Amino acid sequence: MNADEMKRMGLATRAVHAGQQPDPSTGAVMTPIYQTSTYAQAAPGDHKGHEYGRVSNPTRTALEGNLAGLEGGEHGICFASGVAATDAIARCLRPGDHILASNDLYGGTYRLFRQVFGPFGITSDFVDMSDVETVEAALRPETKLLWIETPTNPLVRVVDIRALTDLARSRGIASVVDNTFATPVLQRPLEQGADLVVHSTTKYLGGHSDVIGGVVCTDSDEWAGKLRFLVKSAGAVPGPMDCFLTLRGTKTLDVRMQRHCENAQAIAEFLEADARVAHVYYPGLPSFAGHELAKRQMDGFGGMVSFLLTDDSMPAANRVLSSTQVFTLAESLGGVESLMNHPATMTHASIPADERRAAGLHDALIRLSVGIESKDDLIRDLDQALSQ
Ligand SMILES: *Cc1c(COP(=O)(O)O)cnc(C)c1O
Repeated sequence: MNADEMKRMGLATRAVHAGQQPDPSTGAVMTPIYQTSTYAQAAPGDHKGHEYGRVSNPTRTALEGNLAGLEGGEHGICFASGVAATDAIARCLRPGDHILASNDLYGGTYRLFRQVFGPFGITSDFVDMSDVETVEAALRPETKLLWIETPTNPLVRVVDIRALTDLARSRGIASVVDNTFATPVLQRPLEQGADLVVHSTTKYLGGHSDVIGGVVCTDSDEWAGKLRFLVKSAGAVPGPMDCFLTLRGTKTLDVRMQRHCENAQAIAEFLEADARVAHVYYPGLPSFAGHELAKRQMDGFGGMVSFLLTDDSMPAANRVLSSTQVFTLAESLGGVESLMNHPATMTHASIPADERRAAGLHDALIRLSVGIESKDDLIRDLDQALSQ
């Protein structure tokens, strides 16, 4: 199948086949792990497309084609982690440039922009992106990058990708969507005007909590050229084994996401109806502020659910966080297993407390990454933990 035929296939078909073909040397149906750092040349410069493992590797190339195919983009460029992918994009800025980002976002993105790029003269601001006017008012003449995360982390707020990418384009600003929470199964930002899509493939794309990785997808040859140059020159590349594991994960992405969504919806409804719970954050609840926008922009509501207890105190939250049996208390998300997280002390501890609270992130907020287990077991587990 050529690339144009592949583009016309459904997402579940692309998940299994995009970027892959039987191995040309042996016919192996699954892309082998090419555990090699270098490649033989018949004469100087006469090689079969690969010269040195930092620049490219066939297992990585297959994964890049697969991820680009899933996002509906021309290019996929893989990195050693999600933050390495973010880092590569930010390295394309210059001293004096400004990044405008969402104020409810992955804590490591905040730390990278402020503490790593700040000292190099790249400034950043963080605003509530659910209101386009707030975003417009915060743009500066030197703003070069609009960093969008939706649904946001951990409050799962839904922001209007089309409205924000239109605004960015009208000002000549590049727009990026961190699509880690939604995955291309639920939303494809390139179709909604984004210049770049970033993933931590560590999460849903890998899907089994056994590998760290990142990717940038884009239709722009210019951006792809800059990022490939950084892959070669700065070298934050994933190893072939990690690429193989991620590629194994993406094949089942479509079916996994269906179950993540189904389980998360059932849990959000259970929590919302429970008197021990004061508030549930989940885009699939009709009571949720971003519900209508999520219905328009997404093909499902995702596997992430956050909630606040009626007793909004740290000791009460701690009791729930330490008494589940199926949910594991751990950072990260997007794996087949259900995880529970306390953002204020775990994933979002790198954001100063006053900024966290200003963004509406309560100290006692609990975040769930709902896995693909039997939903009755998950609900029973939460029910007993809430009784502690
Ligand atoms: C985990 C995560 C990242 C960072 O990815 P790593 O693979 O951990 O480096 C970036 N964005 C979001 C939304 C994430 O959840």
